[in-house]
Amino acid sequence: MLFENTIIGPIHSRRLGNSLGINLLPLKRKFCTYDCIYCECGWNKESIENKIELPSYEDVRCQLEKRIAELKAEGAVVDSFTFAGNGEPTLHPDFPKVVDLVVKMRNEHYPNAVITLLTNATQLSRPEIYDALMKLDNPVLKLDAGMAAMRNSINKPTSEKYSFDELVNNLVRFGSKGIIQTLLLRGTNDGKIISNVSDEDFAEYIKILKKIRPKYVMLYAIDRATPEKDLEKLTVEELEIYAQKIRNEGIDVKVYG
Ligand code: SF4
Repeated sequence: MLFENTIIGPIHSRRLGNSLGINLLPLKRKFCTYDCIYCECGWNKESIENKIELPSYEDVRCQLEKRIAELKAEGAVVDSFTFAGNGEPTLHPDFPKVVDLVVKMRNEHYPNAVITLLTNATQLSRPEIYDALMKLDNPVLKLDAGMAAMRNSINKPTSEKYSFDELVNNLVRFGSKGIIQTLLLRGTNDGKIISNVSDEDFAEYIKILKKIRPKYVMLYAIDRATPEKDLEKLTVEELEIYAQKIRNEGIDVKVYG
């Protein structure tokens, strides 16, 4: 499923309340440095090196101002401004500038709202992206495995430059300012067994969490149709068993089954 607009909603979500989505990605295709086997946007259709059309900063500003004016006229509440959409938001060339804009608009119009970003964290090595994320209330950073091989099988990075070691180092550097988001699953892909809940991988994952010491961890199961069909949705009871293993290390966990 691809989002067809730059400004989305607000959509009511259990986790974020009334969430106004900001999709800085193209409207007709996914644009991401990962190609996760469970991605709700489907597989990458083209190389991310291909020319793409992203909404300009001015376009985002105009659309956001217009939507906020409409919502205020209706007396609608916004609980979260949420960067999400058809891929990885931090790839937008003006991402830091858009963050400043959204912070300003939030402060002026909905001072009680939080600003949330769902990111795969592959751009955290770039100082301007790291600094922009530090301005957000809820930077939600993806970590789906404890070992490089499993991360590569699940998230399928589009380039070797997105190494697992660098990812982990950056997450550790970001530390307690970030929320770690993890989707737990089992299945097969390309003839390989996939499981980030095997004893070995999950033990390594917990070791990494102990180094990161995030604000908290969000554990998920598959929710919608996935591009790889041979994947198993874990039950809430199973998610709770894994959540408890993390809590045993003094790290807070929220479970979304
Ligand atoms: S990081 Fe997100 S948008 Fe990118 S492939 Fe994975 S699930 Fe899809």
